Amino acid sequence: MGDFDGIAAIVTGGASGIGAATAALLLERGAKVAVLDLTIDAGPERASRIPCDVSDPASVEAAVHAAAFELGGIDVVINNAGIGAGGDVAANDDDEWHRVLDVNVVGMARVARAALPYLRESKRAAIVNTSSVVAVVGVKNRALYSASKGAVSGLTLAMAADHVGEGIRVNAVAPGTADTPWVARLLDQADDPAAMGEALRQRQPMGRLVTADEVAHAIAYLASPLSGSTTGTILSVDGGMAHL
Ligand code: NAD
Repeated sequence: MGDFDGIAAIVTGGASGIGAATAALLLERGAKVAVLDLTIDAGPERASRIPCDVSDPASVEAAVHAAAFELGGIDVVINNAGIGAGGDVAANDDDEWHRVLDVNVVGMARVARAALPYLRESKRAAIVNTSSVVAVVGVKNRALYSASKGAVSGLTLAMAADHVGEGIRVNAVAPGTADTPWVARLLDQADDPAAMGEALRQRQPMGRLVTADEVAHAIAYLASPLSGSTTGTILSVDGGMAHL
């Protein structure tokens, strides 16, 4: 028995990293879970795997409706799919700005828009968006990515205000650098991976990376009735980086 028994949850970007850890945790606690991701070859085995590109409106509509059909509704939306972008404000052209904002920001709005009719039918509706510490801390060479996550945090607050009267809670997690395949790829591409790894760890006052499991537990808390009075909150999971 778990605190998500019978609850239907969709997790975007659930094939890897934070999303996969969250999908696995929700399954362990009794939820029915659909993973919506570009790839359906990875992610927890007991989850339904539904192909979805959050930057494609038709794909999102089809995937969210397919998930609701398979799970018998939608109570919880974990809006987690995201991509990175490096460089200062001049490093990326307009096409790249639009591409990253389309995945990281508009993608979350699209998924929420498609899921809202189902959430309105739920007795414990919750949306949890994945923002980032870079929404509130200036980090070099993350201009576009930081803009996208600042938008995710703003979107979270606006959605919380819009839907509080309908019983739909909306919160976000703001991870620091987390030990996921994404960060492993960044380190692989670095000139000096050991030095970069050390710099990433030291940037966080706890002197280590956040684990995907720690972020998953924070997401599960915000999606569960244990946080029943919490909406419009951005929960830091960043080893102290934002506030110490
Ligand atoms: P990851 O690369 O391990 O996983 C991301 C998943 O999103 C992948 O399975 C990928 O296929 C999927 N995805 C990418 N584009 C998609 C699209 N258009 N449609 C559907 N799915 C798509 O990354 P992660 O580290 O687990 O990151 C997950 C979230 O956490 C992202 O939103 C990221 O911005 C955020 N985040 C990560 C860190 C970190 O240090 N890892 C820190 C702060 C925030």
